[in-house]
Amino acid sequence: MVKTTKIFKVNAESPNEEVIEVCARYIREGGLVVFPTETVYGLGANAYNPNAVKKIFIVKQRPMDNPLIVHIAGFKQLYEVVSSIPAWVKDFLVKVWPGPLTAVLPKSKRIPGEVTAGLDTVAVRMPLHPVALKLIEKSGVPIAAPSANISGRPSPTTAQHVIEDLWGKVDVIIDAGETIFGVESTIIDLTREPPVLLRPGPYPVEKLREILGKNIIIPEFARGLSEADKALSPGMKYRHYAPRTPLILVELKDYTDLSALTLKIIELAEENISKGKRVAILSSSETAKMYLKHLGKRAKIVVLGSRNNMYSVAKNLFKALRDLDKLNIDIALVEGFEEKGVGLAVMNRLRKASTKIIVVD
Ligand code: AMP
Ligand code: MG
Repeated sequence: MVKTTKIFKVNAESPNEEVIEVCARYIREGGLVVFPTETVYGLGANAYNPNAVKKIFIVKQRPMDNPLIVHIAGFKQLYEVVSSIPAWVKDFLVKVWPGPLTAVLPKSKRIPGEVTAGLDTVAVRMPLHPVALKLIEKSGVPIAAPSANISGRPSPTTAQHVIEDLWGKVDVIIDAGETIFGVESTIIDLTREPPVLLRPGPYPVEKLREILGKNIIIPEFARGLSEADKALSPGMKYRHYAPRTPLILVELKDYTDLSALTLKIIELAEENISKGKRVAILSSSETAKMYLKHLGKRAKIVVLGSRNNMYSVAKNLFKALRDLDKLNIDIALVEGFEEKGVGLAVMNRLRKASTKIIVVD
């Protein structure tokens, strides 16, 4: 079904109140509104309206057993969407919200089963973005929102990415420029003790452990190394972020010396070039000159960011994955990164996006 999509440009810090009011009306009336958050763009609907929520799944072509995150604007709303929260959880959330952290908690009766894929828990987040907060506030209801991309594609970090995937399928797109972090929120399951990391994100798990004063378990699937346990994290089993171009991830066991990594990538590039294939390399700023020196113009080099600032790598990652398909290449090689801080989120996304993983000793 094709519908008219309106696009509104707003200032990320102080969005026009009247524009947000118009968008809030769409949410209240059961429409679909794409809005920016500090992580990625979200595809939002009234979390209390099962028919509106169903439209999210149809438009995204998202499997119905993959639950959505419910976005709230204040703690009053938290008590509407969850059934109970222990004091230690409340104390923790007060410290981390608003921010790029999603908490899985027991759900209240007000949240329809369509949102949670029939689970008795709900994933909740209070985002740190003036546009998102204002939209939720003015709507007067919590907003259920997954990332605003077609399922399986890299998440959108600009309105242009949203247009590529969802033009003519949603009521409104609110454009507030590029998102800040560029990868989706960190998700932790707080219904378990110790809590379990379900998805790494911008909020580093090391920092969360410190704030919580408790251990947080990191299962293999949260590192992107294995299929997710369906009972624990229903949506994580699906392949994600996949560019159409084949992507080979080259990892190291230890990142103190990068020479084995660059050597392997140069070898793979040479091998493919000799077969007549067009090659791109997704690299860190530290190693890019090595590829330039050895391969010159025979490979396209895309710099993701610096290993010393993994936030820069995270921010550029999804754009780079989307752009791969526009580079007119046959195969891409990507460097692995150390799984420290936001590096854990980067590696989770890269492992899920890649068609093959090579680990160099
Ligand atoms: P997305 O909206 O695309 O960022 O994906 C949200 C992810 O949150 C899903 O893929 C689920 O894995 C996870 N999630 C949402 N609700 C729950 C829940 N109740 N329990 C466990 N994981 C959840
Ligand atoms: Mg998503």
